[in-house]
Amino acid sequence: MSLLTVGTVAFDAIETPFGKTDKIIGGAATYIALASSYFNKPINMVSVIGDDFPEEALENLRNHGANTDGIQVKHGEKTFFWSGKYHNDMNTRDTLATELNVLADFEPVVPTHYQECEFLMLGNLTPAVQMSVINQLPNRPKLVVLDTMNFWMDIALDELKAVLKKIDVLTINDEEARQLSGEYSLVKAAQAILTMGPKYLVIKKGEHGALLFNNESVFFAPALPLEEVFDPTGAGDSFAGGFIGYLASTRDTSFDNMKRAIIFGSAMASFCVEKFGTERLINLSQEEIDDRVQDFIDLVQFDISLVND
Ligand code: AMP
Repeated sequence: MSLLTVGTVAFDAIETPFGKTDKIIGGAATYIALASSYFNKPINMVSVIGDDFPEEALENLRNHGANTDGIQVKHGEKTFFWSGKYHNDMNTRDTLATELNVLADFEPVVPTHYQECEFLMLGNLTPAVQMSVINQLPNRPKLVVLDTMNFWMDIALDELKAVLKKIDVLTINDEEARQLSGEYSLVKAAQAILTMGPKYLVIKKGEHGALLFNNESVFFAPALPLEEVFDPTGAGDSFAGGFIGYLASTRDTSFDNMKRAIIFGSAMASFCVEKFGTERLINLSQEEIDDRVQDFIDLVQFDISLVND
């Protein structure tokens, strides 16, 4: 089904206890496009890059079924750059640099052939850009999912709150849920956030899995205990890509189907962290994905006979 994403296409420099990279290809929209490509094609991308961004990286996205017509190239300007360093727990990180570059004055243009979009994934970037993409669509998509982060809560909270009113599903991590709601308990945080606009909230807890809330129900999905976590960068975006890719491929936006989507999203995130950057997401087979999803099923399946049954 028609799937559109907006987000960063970027250079990242990453430091983990296992090693350090120079500038490698990253960005929220890159991870979303790669992860969703295993479920639904094409993914129509809206983003911006400078003329320092390599053509092979765009070609790679196209080879995964991404449509890159909506990625603007700003001549004489530099691509968005992010650098981060992970702590030993691999769950927390410090941002060392965020250079907005082309993102600073980005005005997204949704190409006409993208506009009949049924599933919209607003990846992590300026809330005003996320809003502009919504406003350019003539018909409201069947589902609008938004991912964001503390950086935007710090510098653009009012714009973020405005766009939250327009979406169906918000995906954020536990610390961001606490920051946005002012509540420490994640249950109270979810209740508060669900009054801000979204009907569903996914709280990502890194190696501790993810929670899905709506006003009536809550669902928990574990993260797979992995022998080695190499680089968590992009895990959240890979999760988002798997989540919306699965929903778009099934066209079912019920709470029950979102539970399945969370497992597929978690499976894509578990692949992402196994290698640096996008390396692991580039060459997955259907069999590997099926096996990984089976691992999730096995992990949480148990039989209990209650005495009173
Ligand atoms: P994640 O690890 O899922 O939070 O995503 C990491 C990706 O997000 C990296 O590839 C970065 O290029 C990108 N990123 C980092 N900071 C920002 C930001 N402030 N806005 C948009 N994208 C960002």
